[in-house]
Amino acid sequence: MSCKIIFAKEISASYREELKTTIKSRRIKPKLVGFLANEDPASIKYAECTLKTCEETGILFELRKCNREELEDQIIKANEDDSIHGIMVYYPVFGDLQDKYLQNVVSVTKDVEGLCNFYQNIPFLDEEPIKNCIIPCTPLAIIKVLEYIRVYNPVFLSGNRLHDRVITIINRSGIVGQPLAALLANEGGKVYSVDINNIQEIYRETGLKLKKYEVRNTNLKLEEILPISDVVITGVPTSSYKVPTVLLRNGVIAINFSAFKNFEDNVKEKASIYVPTVGKITIAMLERNLLKLYDSQLSLRNE
Ligand code: NAD
Repeated sequence: MSCKIIFAKEISASYREELKTTIKSRRIKPKLVGFLANEDPASIKYAECTLKTCEETGILFELRKCNREELEDQIIKANEDDSIHGIMVYYPVFGDLQDKYLQNVVSVTKDVEGLCNFYQNIPFLDEEPIKNCIIPCTPLAIIKVLEYIRVYNPVFLSGNRLHDRVITIINRSGIVGQPLAALLANEGGKVYSVDINNIQEIYRETGLKLKKYEVRNTNLKLEEILPISDVVITGVPTSSYKVPTVLLRNGVIAINFSAFKNFEDNVKEKASIYVPTVGKITIAMLERNLLKLYDSQLSLRNE
């Protein structure tokens, strides 16, 4: 089978172009501050890419390095600084519940990553009906991937466009896997959410009987869900983790957002589409979120 490999650069190009034109024509200078309080190579690379893309699109990006004990005070200071329109933090910082707490220290008016108080079980959660809701960047980037490759079926109404799609997400972190599962289940998908401990089934019942999705633990094993999954999305943060190609169904859509390659090299023998990384799309979504925040701060000041 011939597999099409789609790179994040291709998908993000139109968003980057749109951002550049908007910022130039409006003659604005939105400012984003990123806090780096870890030594994680993936975070450092992400920060470098963010700086490069922001320079290209006309956004001011300032990286502030600090130690993790100072971080909360630094965030509070940035919350109060009117010259800053968006704040992001490179996680993990403490790698435990303290990170969840820090997500909520960022003011909701500056939370460019959409991590504070993200309400997960909203039916019809797409960009149109809730224009002012900031959707977390990486889940939003993955949605853009799924739209680009036409996994969303436009024949159905908004809210049902993933009807009958079976999607496995191997990651249940609060910043990516959980919100992504919520967004896809709300759109009608049947989601298997896999983490190191168990597998959950998240969906609105057969025939989309329910308006809101339900979450249940399942006894199904990865060996049973991979062969029935139309889309497999992976985000396991270790180089040793590999999804066994042999278990994937023919024609699967394989998307990796981990900093490591979670699919085996021979994934191309089974997949119809393979997206090896999404980082560049995530940054484009981060910038779009920043513009939304810039505009809502502007209208708040003008009230
Ligand atoms: P995390 O450590 O918070 O979460 C990892 C998740 O993987 C957890 O749900 C854990 O249970 C699960 N997991 C770990 N080992 C597993 C296994 N053997 N089987 C099944 N599940 C397993 O990490 P995170 O913040 O979600 O980041 C994950 C990866 O994604 C990292 O490599 C990170 O660099 C990358 N990332 C990329 C982007 C992007 O836009 N490209 C954005 C965020 C994170």
